[in-house]
Amino acid sequence: MRTLIVSDIHGNLEALNAVLEDAGSFDAAMCLGDIVGYGAQPNECVATVRDLPKLICLAGNHDLGATGRIDAGLFSSGAGRALMWTRHALRPDSSEFLMQLEPTGSAPHMALVHASPRDPVWEYLEYAQQAAANFVLFEQPACFVGHTHVPRTFEEAVDRSGHGTVRARANMEQIDLFDGIRRIVNPGSVGQPRDGDPRAAYAVVDTESGSFTTRRVAYNVVKAQELILAAGLPSSLASRLSLGM
Ligand code: ZN
Repeated sequence: MRTLIVSDIHGNLEALNAVLEDAGSFDAAMCLGDIVGYGAQPNECVATVRDLPKLICLAGNHDLGATGRIDAGLFSSGAGRALMWTRHALRPDSSEFLMQLEPTGSAPHMALVHASPRDPVWEYLEYAQQAAANFVLFEQPACFVGHTHVPRTFEEAVDRSGHGTVRARANMEQIDLFDGIRRIVNPGSVGQPRDGDPRAAYAVVDTESGSFTTRRVAYNVVKAQELILAAGLPSSLASRLSLGM
């Protein structure tokens, strides 16, 4: 099954539509959370994700915050302001969809979490040492995570003496998920990339062969920025989109 993997869309419909156009046809979809928060089109993004085929969808910290399931006070000031805006903007049907999501899930051969296996809502998985503590918490060959908005792969290797080591690396364009190496993979963010590349990031996995492909796609950043400013959201949320930070 050709499966689309998206994460951290953050109310950016321009980016999401560009990803869907670039991806072409797929049989199933996984969303690793944070459909809303920061961006100006939360309802449109929820409606688009909700309609994806054979969808497995997780809740991210912003989805939980926007529906009142976690306290807005836990977010930084800009994120908190955007969260309050999003709470007011969400239609009842969007809230209802977000309310039934959880931050963890699974698919054959894959664990799925928004942030990390040991803290599915909040941990920013950035370093090999952190990843090492998380590899023991799932059994599948691969775990997909979002939350940092940075595409990154952690690989686990066992040396001859039986010691496990973990290394972090940038995502390769293509990975064979069934090659015997266990991995934690972040496909990056659709709607607010933070690796210095403003293009939307996503991935496609063939669940039979284990072939995993990452993609970047340019979208209409200016339009997304105009909508953020017109909505009265913090201007920093608009400017960061052109920097990819
Ligand atoms: Zn996010």
